[in-house]
Amino acid sequence: MTKTINHWIGGKSVAGDSGRKSEVFNPATGEVSAHLSLASAKLVGQAVRNAQEAFPAWAATPPIQRARIMFRFKELLVEHIDELAALVTAEHGKTLPDAKGSVTRGMEVVEFATGIPNLLKGDFTEQVGTSVDAWSIRQPLGVCAGITPFNFPAMVPMWMFPMAIACGNTFILKPSEKDPSCPMRLAELLKEAGLPDGVLNVVNGDKEAVDAILADPLVKAVSFVGSTPIAEYVYHTGAAHNKRVQALGGAKNHMVVMPDADMDQATDALMGAAYGSAGERCMAISVAVAVGSAGDALMERLVPRVEALKIGPGTDPESEMGPLVTRQHLDKVRGYVDLGVEEGAKLVVDGRGFKVDRQGYENGNYIGGCLFDDVTADMRIYKEEIFGPVLSVVRAPDYANALQLVNDHEFGNGTSIFTRDGDSARHFTAHCQVGMVGVNVPIPVPVAYHSFGGWKRSLFGDMNVHGMEGVRFYTKVKTITSRWPTGIREGAEFVIPTLG
Ligand code: NAD
Repeated sequence: MTKTINHWIGGKSVAGDSGRKSEVFNPATGEVSAHLSLASAKLVGQAVRNAQEAFPAWAATPPIQRARIMFRFKELLVEHIDELAALVTAEHGKTLPDAKGSVTRGMEVVEFATGIPNLLKGDFTEQVGTSVDAWSIRQPLGVCAGITPFNFPAMVPMWMFPMAIACGNTFILKPSEKDPSCPMRLAELLKEAGLPDGVLNVVNGDKEAVDAILADPLVKAVSFVGSTPIAEYVYHTGAAHNKRVQALGGAKNHMVVMPDADMDQATDALMGAAYGSAGERCMAISVAVAVGSAGDALMERLVPRVEALKIGPGTDPESEMGPLVTRQHLDKVRGYVDLGVEEGAKLVVDGRGFKVDRQGYENGNYIGGCLFDDVTADMRIYKEEIFGPVLSVVRAPDYANALQLVNDHEFGNGTSIFTRDGDSARHFTAHCQVGMVGVNVPIPVPVAYHSFGGWKRSLFGDMNVHGMEGVRFYTKVKTITSRWPTGIREGAEFVIPTLG
């Protein structure tokens, strides 16, 4: 019998009440590995009330004690990293080393959150007026929520809840219904680290759970990461219910390759950034903009490398790329490759027919690496996010044209330039309309003490995730102006106070 994955409310596993379930698959084999209980709006309400009840005591817990729990959580993450990576691979499909890397990137946010006593230090000004002092402090918001995508079931939840909780909030996590096991395990480990019950709750579910979170007046802030249409919906709906919202959306990341770049290095970078994690990364490079003579030099190197990609189950140490997350997603990616051919792009490497011939893996969601040349800006395969191992090469006559392509695109999550020329690199970093930029770095995912976020339709809201932006998002500022009685009475003052 397949297991049922429930919810984590008030520090324990809670069964669902809706009777609605979805299937969780092993992408490597195509088999159903579990059933997921989908929360009703009522169950979400119960989790939110639980979090609300836990809030006053947690907000009053000194930051250093919250930090110590984060320290213990970090130690547990190190101890359990293989187990967590295996959970990610089993439901997402990415290779084990890649899964492990993603847990580590999440863990780095936990490390940052251990510094919370320092991060929450306020400002103090002595003598803003005679015998009057002023200071500002950051206080937690209350119940916060996070809604996360399938592609990083460990890292993206850990962009959110360690920061929110360290700041003194309580939290409701609604992970992707495609790979919920790792987030559930993270909640268990945080309890083991000493987190009081009710501070972190996990509700599994779909649109019904998301809508219940967005409408609940007790939820003060919502962090969302996922596709652009849902990000936009969450942003508008959350704001309409008076919540603070940060909603990170989709991407189409361009890597500009200048003719003076080290072509071997650029090819290595493109291989990892386009085909790693089967292209299911919001920071994957899906467009290579080859400037001038870089086009032929790149294509001649890329073609044999894409053809030679080692594709297989994520648990096989030989695999460079695993399967796609679901059959439905595989069909969508294949459909985009068909579309590219119809649109007139040149399909130089066609991975559509790829099969894993090992017994037991015949029904996995595999596709080979695909490479298009001569893609143009009017094609849908250029405009839309495919989220699979499909790289489009666009030829640009010069740097100005390449920069224009980057800036005209609807998305602005990440981009990079490969060049040996400091001038073009500097001009590019200054003028591209994109939130995260790499110079000879293909996937410029900021470290935890900087912050992560795109521009244009890749992020709705004002603040990025983690780093100081995370502290700002999960706290509100209070400013106190204070005078102690001095024995001097000045009488009633009817003019706006101008201290001094
Ligand atoms: P998705 O938008 O389908 O789902 C994200 C979350 O929204 C899930 O928890 C899901 O249950 C929920 N959801 C789905 N449909 C909904 C609806 N109609 N109403 C309310 N909630 C709904 O995204 P996904 O397929 O899980 O993830 C892939 C997408 O996430 C890609 O577009 C990728 O670029 C993006 N992503 C962005 C970033 C970033 O930092 N910008 C990071 C990771 C992934």
